[in-house]
Amino acid sequence: MRRKFIAGNWKMFKTSAEAAAFAEELKKLYKNTELDAAICAPFTQLAVLKAAFAGTGIKLGAQNVHFEEQGAFTGEISPAMLTEIGVDYTIVGHSERREYFGETDETVNKKLHKLFEHGITPILCVGEKLEHREAGKEYEIVQGQLEKDLKGLNAAQVAGLVIAYEPIWAIGTGRTATPAQAEEICGFIRKTVAALYDGETAEQLRIQYGGSVKPDNISDILGRNDVDGALVGGASLVATDFIKLIG
Ligand code: 13P
Repeated sequence: MRRKFIAGNWKMFKTSAEAAAFAEELKKLYKNTELDAAICAPFTQLAVLKAAFAGTGIKLGAQNVHFEEQGAFTGEISPAMLTEIGVDYTIVGHSERREYFGETDETVNKKLHKLFEHGITPILCVGEKLEHREAGKEYEIVQGQLEKDLKGLNAAQVAGLVIAYEPIWAIGTGRTATPAQAEEICGFIRKTVAALYDGETAEQLRIQYGGSVKPDNISDILGRNDVDGALVGGASLVATDFIKLIG
């Protein structure tokens, strides 16, 4: 049985003081339930949150990583730097990184391999642009991303992976995919993984939906069979909103 998993993606929001205040508020409200919950924070807030979430069961994620062990890569963060802090998850291939920072399926693939080497669970983001959906190409785009992004990973790794289906047209726009649309592509992702690997691997894989998830639409989305949770931007920034998603 796959446990539902709700992760907040803070993107480039919150200072350390703001992160600490959020954590204090969330801890007061949080009761560990049958849902898994995590916050994926900017690098400079990770240590603050690790300390604040200790003993609560709330997990910690980063939003990016470099695919080399170390080296002359100014401004980058290595996987060992993340494991030292005790990060559980790292988002890879978010559409904002693909669009604004030159992330490609090749670099995504290298990052997935590196994270598994370091025992960090990747949250791999895939999803189509509006123009692709309007042209009926959403399946083709998502399948192409999966084939390239998962290249060379073994079945055990893929079974432990989290994939977030984030249609780009639904991110930060208030325009959510309908629960049926979310389920359709999440189901397609599972079928694609079953074809690339096997049915058992696909059954274990957790697939989140992301894009304008809010307290008022989460239960419809989580109610769908193939949707194992959500990757949440805006609504993860306010503790009293986020608690409604994970509580
Ligand atoms: P919003 O929930 O703000 O639409 O962001 C979704 C997202 O990009 C999560 O990674």
